Amino acid sequence: MADLVSRLNDVRDRIARAALGSGRASDAVRLVLVTKTVPAERLRDVIRAGATDLGENKVQEGLAKAQALEGVVEGGPVRWSMIGHLQSNKVRDALRFASEVQSLDRLSLARELEKRLLREGRGLDVLVQVNTSGEASKYGLAPEDVPGYLRELTAFDTLRPRGFMTLATFTSDEAEVRRCFRLLRDIRDRAMNDAPGGEALTELSMGMSGDYEWAIAEGATIVRVGQAVFGARPLPDSHYWPGAAGTT
Ligand SMILES: *Cc1c(COP(=O)(O)O)cnc(C)c1O
Repeated sequence: MADLVSRLNDVRDRIARAALGSGRASDAVRLVLVTKTVPAERLRDVIRAGATDLGENKVQEGLAKAQALEGVVEGGPVRWSMIGHLQSNKVRDALRFASEVQSLDRLSLARELEKRLLREGRGLDVLVQVNTSGEASKYGLAPEDVPGYLRELTAFDTLRPRGFMTLATFTSDEAEVRRCFRLLRDIRDRAMNDAPGGEALTELSMGMSGDYEWAIAEGATIVRVGQAVFGARPLPDSHYWPGAAGTT
């Protein structure tokens, strides 16, 4: 537990320094702690240490942990983000725990979310996932499809588009990783100028354990970090992202 909290504090320090280094306030970047494979019991420790934002990429796992942690208020209430590919038939369960979906990647998903949200009489913050790496195995819209998609989203009253999310190419090549982040930032900047309701599209969710400092340097407003806080996962990334190589 001491280890966990000291790693969390180290990541927070690095985020704050990177934000300052990019000319922003030290608290300008939101940390979403990615909890996949981490048991709910260990999450209590980070929540006690002040973590407020948790992210899951599998619906059943997220729902089970959110329910296990219900009533844990030390350090304040937590907010869950859905960050992985969301199948339409899991929308209902996703909305039982997630207050934000960062992986909006197709029109049919927007339709399913809208249908369910209308029934529940509420809205939802969403980020549009963009495939900036060009890898066929990655989810997300092709960059050139983003403007049209944003226009189509205006038809959905319950969805509040807040910006964009991406996964960079899985490589240790800094130039290639930063190219992906810069591409997402360009897409965001253009959308803020041109898209309907563009002024609300401020968020850039990019950067994970291996590359969040580069992402912040390129303008990330949200980073999604798991292993740097919780330790290495037992399963390789290829389990979560078909086509991803290696374990980092
Ligand atoms: C797992 C995951 C992360 C975090 O990866 P780490 O290597 O644990 O930091 C970020 N984003 C998504 C979509 C993920 O599935």
